Amino acid sequence: MSIKKLGEFGLIEEIKKRFSTFNSDTTQGIGDDCAIIPKNDEISYVITTDMLVEGKHFILDNISSFELGHKSLAVNISDVASMGATPYCSFLSFALSNEVDEQWCRGFIDGYYSLSHQYNIPLLGGDTTSANDGALTISVTAIGEVKNSNIKLRSMAKVGDIIAVTSNLGDSALALKLMLGGEECPDDLRNFHNKPNPHIKQGEWLGAQSAVNAMMDISDGVASDITHICKLSECGAKINTSVIPHSERLKEICENRQLNILDFSLAGGEDYSLLLTVSPSKFEGLKQEFDNLFKENITAIGEITESGISYINSSGKVVEQKLGFRHF
Ligand code: ADP
Ligand code: MG
Repeated sequence: MSIKKLGEFGLIEEIKKRFSTFNSDTTQGIGDDCAIIPKNDEISYVITTDMLVEGKHFILDNISSFELGHKSLAVNISDVASMGATPYCSFLSFALSNEVDEQWCRGFIDGYYSLSHQYNIPLLGGDTTSANDGALTISVTAIGEVKNSNIKLRSMAKVGDIIAVTSNLGDSALALKLMLGGEECPDDLRNFHNKPNPHIKQGEWLGAQSAVNAMMDISDGVASDITHICKLSECGAKINTSVIPHSERLKEICENRQLNILDFSLAGGEDYSLLLTVSPSKFEGLKQEFDNLFKENITAIGEITESGISYINSSGKVVEQKLGFRHF
């Protein structure tokens, strides 16, 4: 079978099955944003690792080394936050290609340091090697800590829960489209893609809220990411496409160019905000408190159902929706 036919998630599923002999009652492995290892009766470590490969995740001409340093840590601590955890430390490994020089490396470290400093996350180790003429590759491992009672899993959604997101969606995908097309991309828009702002404090706070059931971060687009929650929680979802939060800029550009806005806001990916499911009776209270604390909106975009994933438009009609990003 070709690797494309097996697919990214098919391959991960095979690996998970093969290693199921190691399944344990105390640790939790493959399947969620992070693995979980108990530290003691009250606290667990969460651990995640994410790779960024030149040509696949970034093009050197489109991202400064400072931005790439920031982004390499951001995408990892976003997974930590999505468990309701607080980032504790990170490890950084890279295979540097012949294309980059000393100055580039200094910029990368500055970017990685600035985000580490912002959230007080020490870098405790890593590995450094050369890719020669191959693709520059960065691999980061992030570890977080969380009270056991605050852990939010992809498998915790309940039928009737409200599905919600913690920011506008699609600006990152729009920035990528403009950059790949060689078009001008304003700095503030470019930042959504090159220097994403992981929802660290928000994830920590949402972890402590009993109203929140399941949570994950949005890396591949809601259309892809909601399938993980549905699979692991053994439920379905109904998403209302007319209420997906987006910026005015995304709306305007899509209208002017006759692009489907949902290709960005639902199937675009790399938003790095949070996707959560919330007990319906507690949603309004949670939304109010979140808005007051973070001056940001939690937006309801649908509800958890018994089975199947469907998308409805403003008139309640079922519509087709593209899936989100797949690596292969
Ligand atoms: P995320 O987008 O949140 O980083 P991924 O889609 O990359 O999550 O991974 C989904 C799950 O599969 C995670 O639990 C991750 O640890 C696991 N996983 C991905 N690739 C591998 C691999 N090569 N070996 C073992 N587990 C993997
Ligand atoms: Mg994730």
